[in-house]
Amino acid sequence: MGNGFQCVKCSHSGCQIRKDFSRTCNKCSHTETASKNTLFHKVKFGFRKAFFMCFEMSTSTKSLSASYMGVRFGVTEKTVQLFMHKVREAMKSSENYPMDGTVHIDEFVIGGKEKGKEGRSYNSKKKRL
Ligand SMILES: [Zn+2]
Repeated sequence: MGNGFQCVKCSHSGCQIRKDFSRTCNKCSHTETASKNTLFHKVKFGFRKAFFMCFEMSTSTKSLSASYMGVRFGVTEKTVQLFMHKVREAMKSSENYPMDGTVHIDEFVIGGKEKGKEGRSYNSKKKRL
């Protein structure tokens, strides 16, 4: 079928895709959720919050703490911590596929962190556009 499905129970590759995008094996009827094998597998606080957290983590220029994220999204610090760890691990995996060819960069900072400043500072000579 070429959709990447392989049943964990019987290794059959044919499946039915359901309304909620879960997949049911044609042979043994084992059903797996759409989030299986992803970051979002069994998140306790819903996909919407999980997506927002990923967005925040990938666009914020400051480092985000689990306690801040917990308060912001109404989730316990421990739960956020676990999820953020998963996201960071997933981001790390991109090191296996370094960018190739011509790479377009919007802006970047040279020289690492500055003393007494959080994240990317906007009045610094270091920022290049
Ligand atoms: Zn099966």
